Amino acid sequence: MTINKLGVHALVFAGGTSPEQMTHIITETKRAGYDVLELSLHDSPSLDVAHARAELDKAGLGIVCSRGLAFSADVSSEDPEVVARGAKLLHDSLEITHGLGGSHFTGALYSALGKYGHALSATGRANVVSVLKDLAVEAQAKQMTLGLEICNRYETNVINTAADALRLADDIGHDNVVIHLDTYHMNIEEDDFVRPVHLVGDRLGYVHIGENHRGYLGSGHLDFTSFFHALADINYSGPITFESFSSAVVSPTLSNDLAIWRNLWNDGPALAIHARQFMANRLEIAHAI
Ligand code: MN
Repeated sequence: MTINKLGVHALVFAGGTSPEQMTHIITETKRAGYDVLELSLHDSPSLDVAHARAELDKAGLGIVCSRGLAFSADVSSEDPEVVARGAKLLHDSLEITHGLGGSHFTGALYSALGKYGHALSATGRANVVSVLKDLAVEAQAKQMTLGLEICNRYETNVINTAADALRLADDIGHDNVVIHLDTYHMNIEEDDFVRPVHLVGDRLGYVHIGENHRGYLGSGHLDFTSFFHALADINYSGPITFESFSSAVVSPTLSNDLAIWRNLWNDGPALAIHARQFMANRLEIAHAI
C-alpha cells in the first residue's frame, strides 16, 4: 500500500478509445495493479461513455481525464472564434470526465499541444484566464478539480515552469484549480526536481512520472529519488500516474502532437507492471525514514 493512488496512461495499452480498446485498456490497467486509469480525450468521438464507465466500475478503477487543445480550438488565441471553439472543447471534455465518474480533468487545458512560433500575448493570456475561470466554476458545481499540467516550451508557450503555473492559477483564482507536475517536462525547464515541488507545495494536485525520453522508468537519466523525496517533503497524497509513449502504440492525433517518432518499448502490459513496481518502490523508500 502506498499513500498515493497510482495510475497509468491509457496510451501504454492502446491508441484509441473504441469499446474494444477500452475493455483491453481497463483489463490491463487492473491486471498491472493500478488504482487509476488516465484517459486522454483526444479520441472522444469514438468513446462510449456508458460502456467505459460500466467497465471501470466493474474493475473498481478510478478515472482521470486529460487533454491538450488544438491550434484551431485554442483558448490562448487572440481570435475570439478560435477561443470559443477551445472553450467548447473544454466544456464537452469536462462533461465526458464527469460522465465517466471522474473528478479530475487535467492537461494542457490552456493551449494547443505543439510548438508555437511566438510568445504568448497579453490578450491570449487574458483569454486563458477568462475561459478557465468559467470552467472552474462549472467544475466546482460538479465537485470536480482542474489540473494545469506544466509542459515544456516545444509543446506550449503558456506555462513552462511551476512559477508560471502558480501565477496562472492565482489569476484564475479558484481553489479547485491545482498544479500538475510532470518529470519529463520538468527535466527540460526546471532547475532540478526539488525546488518546483517545494514551490508548489500543497497546491500540487496531480503528478506524471515519465522518463527523459518517455520510455522505461530507470532506463534514462532522471533523478526520481530526489523527486520522490520532494513529494514526501510536502506530504503529497494525490494521484501519481505513469506516462510513457512508443511508436509501438500509436494514436493518430496525440502521438503526433507529442512527437512520438521512436520505438522505446513493444510490450505495454510488461512496461506497466514494471513502472508500477518502480513507483511503489520509490514511494516506499521516500516514506521509510
Ligand atoms: Mn504529462
